Amino acid sequence: MRYTQYLLPTSKETPADAEITSHKLMMRTGMIRKVAAGIYSYMPFGLKAIRKVEQIVREEMNRAGAIELHMPMVTPAELWNESGRWAQYGKELLRLRDRKENEFCLGPTHEEVVTDIVRREIKSYRQLPINLYQIQTKFRDEIRPRFGLMRGREFIMKDAYSFDVDDAGADAAYEKMYQAYRRIFSRCGLKFRAVEADTGNIGGSSSHEFMVLAESGEDAIVSCGSCEYAANVEKAELKLSVGKAPAPVAATQEVATPGQKSIDEVAAFLQIEPSQLVKTLIVTTDTDEQVAVLLRGDHELNEIKLCRYLGCNHLELSSDEAVEKVTGAPSGYAGPVGLKLRLLADQAVQEMADFVVGANKAGTHLTGVNIERDFKVEAFADLRQAENGDPCPRCSGKLESWRGIEVGHVFKLGTKYSEALGATVQDEAEQERALVMGCYGIGIGRTVAASIEQNNDENGIIWPMPIAPFQLLITMLNPKDEAVRDASEKLYSELMDAGIDVLLDDRDERPGSKFKDADLIGIPIRVTVGARGLQEDAFEVQERAVGEREMIPVAQAVQTLTERVASALEAGDLS
Ligand SMILES: [Zn+2]
Repeated sequence: MRYTQYLLPTSKETPADAEITSHKLMMRTGMIRKVAAGIYSYMPFGLKAIRKVEQIVREEMNRAGAIELHMPMVTPAELWNESGRWAQYGKELLRLRDRKENEFCLGPTHEEVVTDIVRREIKSYRQLPINLYQIQTKFRDEIRPRFGLMRGREFIMKDAYSFDVDDAGADAAYEKMYQAYRRIFSRCGLKFRAVEADTGNIGGSSSHEFMVLAESGEDAIVSCGSCEYAANVEKAELKLSVGKAPAPVAATQEVATPGQKSIDEVAAFLQIEPSQLVKTLIVTTDTDEQVAVLLRGDHELNEIKLCRYLGCNHLELSSDEAVEKVTGAPSGYAGPVGLKLRLLADQAVQEMADFVVGANKAGTHLTGVNIERDFKVEAFADLRQAENGDPCPRCSGKLESWRGIEVGHVFKLGTKYSEALGATVQDEAEQERALVMGCYGIGIGRTVAASIEQNNDENGIIWPMPIAPFQLLITMLNPKDEAVRDASEKLYSELMDAGIDVLLDDRDERPGSKFKDADLIGIPIRVTVGARGLQEDAFEVQERAVGEREMIPVAQAVQTLTERVASALEAGDLS
């Protein structure tokens, strides 16, 4: 492709409504243009990246034995009534009527439509297993669309649905998709983790989220460095500690800590580590119960775990006034000794002795405090947030913490839709059985956006080779110089003959502005053709991710560059 004949409207300006890096860069590189809130045109440069992700997804779905089909975006209310979702779905389901007053919706997902197909076409267990997928535009009427393609209303998704005669078959289908997803995101050249989305089911999860790792990610996750365990921080279990507290040595003593409220302040003031303190948090549940929770000073409360333990739906830290009412001291000095509240402790506190707590008295703490001797707790439980360096709950490894962006989801659905819509087959014993389903999604546009969140610097995008809109950029320094033009054109056509996806920057612009654009659009390999290099019979080559420049002889350029593209494509390949 020639830049002068292409539509690649780059800009220095960052649009005001773009909050995150990928949205900003997709706007600045002209990959997307907003048509309405959460609705975008995929411009040529953006579409190329999307198509590359789609192609990888398609190849791996096919390899895993899934079959591609295409279902309509507009789907009739009748099907949604059969599953009950017409009534259940909120306003995210965009409903519309045709000229005959028939009700339809724009499909945000296709369980009903695909189950309808299967109940009509599949009659015997001999036709199973089957996994049907599509890559298609979907619509979800988000109340607050934002972040560009990260949370749009209209979006491209790959959705797949597996149908099996029994649970064992459904488990096998799930495992196949799990492995296909690992291959897909590896082949896209992305760093990712498959995170257990449902830990209620110990020993095997029936739902995994695939997270692209990026500092800007919405989800905090932990993963084991030694095994495949990974989980959302909110859900990550921690090994039950087996350690017992050493016997108390110190006597309890009141110390003045005027104005020292936070753990760090108190630790610094008393010249001890935060891990020698026990903090006392007072929470209020949705049923207005107040509970005190003890945590080691350097640990964070996991409200979801506490909620689950207490059997409530929601809780929050009690207000300063409420804390003062139950402890008799301003917030910051709460402690367990003499406190008349239900008292729980994180399991890590079980191993502590002679620690420091608030004294329930303004400007005062207690040192040398011990459980049993000085106060009692109702129970020890796993109540804290997992963090970097914690032991893995599955093996002897350690957890590492990351932030991630969810780009894919595999989910064992069971028989919810097959029972509602009557998708059954006769099994070997001629018994009628509802099919066991699984569903598997990948946000295609979201994957492209997440790859930008993961791979960028202050100058622009750094595409992984497999999903880069172009694999190689030739920058013609001065198109008016005949030697430069001829050498660029020759290289361009030879690289295209070699199957490389090339963009030729043949614009008559200053080198500085061409280089700025090259950094911004982030094509992995960049070849600069200039008069000075040609005098030495060489091109300058630079990889966007590395930045170092080198000269390669003109005669070897096509072979060298073709090999580099090939090896960058293979880098993410799992095979
Ligand atoms: Zn592990």
